[in-house]
Amino acid sequence: MHPHKLIIIGSGPAGWTAAIYAARANLNPVVYVGVPKQDPSIVLPGGQLMLTTEVENYPGFPDGVAGPEMMRKFQEQAERFGTRVVNEDIASCDFSSAGKGPFTLKTSGNESVQAHAVIIATGAVANWIGLKNEMRLAMAGGGVSACAVCDGALPAFRNQPLAVVGGGDTAMEEATYLTKFASTVTVIHRRNELRASKIMQERFLAQPNAKILWNKIVVDVLGDEKIEALTLEDTVTKERSRFETRGLFVAIGHTPATRFLGGSGIDLDDKGYIRLKSRKSTTNIEGVFAAGDVADAEYRQAITAAGMGCQAALDAERWLGARGVH
Ligand code: NAP
Repeated sequence: MHPHKLIIIGSGPAGWTAAIYAARANLNPVVYVGVPKQDPSIVLPGGQLMLTTEVENYPGFPDGVAGPEMMRKFQEQAERFGTRVVNEDIASCDFSSAGKGPFTLKTSGNESVQAHAVIIATGAVANWIGLKNEMRLAMAGGGVSACAVCDGALPAFRNQPLAVVGGGDTAMEEATYLTKFASTVTVIHRRNELRASKIMQERFLAQPNAKILWNKIVVDVLGDEKIEALTLEDTVTKERSRFETRGLFVAIGHTPATRFLGGSGIDLDDKGYIRLKSRKSTTNIEGVFAAGDVADAEYRQAITAAGMGCQAALDAERWLGARGVH
């Protein structure tokens, strides 16, 4: 088996940007884009942007661009310079040969492939409540989203009552952001106390159109093509009620796509994100790099993921060059 110079796992902004840089550096990168899946709560080829309708904050697209269209352009650009694309998942990684020889990865088709260097860019997925109608409306652009910063400024949400589910810092941040556009923003939390830091709570509650509903969970999302209302259940009394809203933003945390790294020796933090050396894309294993949301619980933007993909390709190129692989 002839080892590849570089395998990139993942096909969001981080993976494709790493591929563009690596291909232009003659590293003949092979991108494992993943297998299409029906369930948006697991990693999709193209990543989270495949679930975003309009991207308006990525520089270079003054009129905005649809998330899937943007990922198609990223892929085209990577392929133009000779990137090879494989429509499979990587199921497991053996990095035990670090410092001695190429790494061996197993594909979802149970094939073994080898590479001198690996960039992990598998991203993270937003956690969803897990309701059938929530998923249906999220996939159809029907006013259900897991990213207020991506979707909140769209015309459909302007001057409308909106709801945010969650009680952590992300929920506060997203809810505060939405107060700029919405008529009211109601945070729906399952307990009577927020998990978010005091300062983030105060920032939200200082807005005149901010509201909180305590001890409530969402048990259904109502509306055919667009969201119209939620069915809520009180966690104490179990009483059900109807809550009118034109948007539902789910902010109940993210899960990094690192399960396939189990047993590989890659250093993960307590939430499962890959730990990087400060301001680098290098992991604890020499020759293995990471980029994008899989290693970033904080910024999680297409532009920051793309920047990290660039860093990882440059780090991999230097690392390979120092070992005589050009
Ligand atoms: P998080 O801190 O894990 O909070 C998740 C929230 O969602 C919790 O309030 C939790 O409720 C709720 N939740 C979880 N599952 C739920 C379900 N199935 N139904 C209803 N509610 C559910 O996640 P996060 O807010 O995304 O924050 C992640 C990390 O990033 C944190 O360390 C945070 O501090 C950090 N962060 C920082 C900033 C900032 O400082 N600017 C901004 C964003 C995030 P319970 O409270 O009842 O468990």
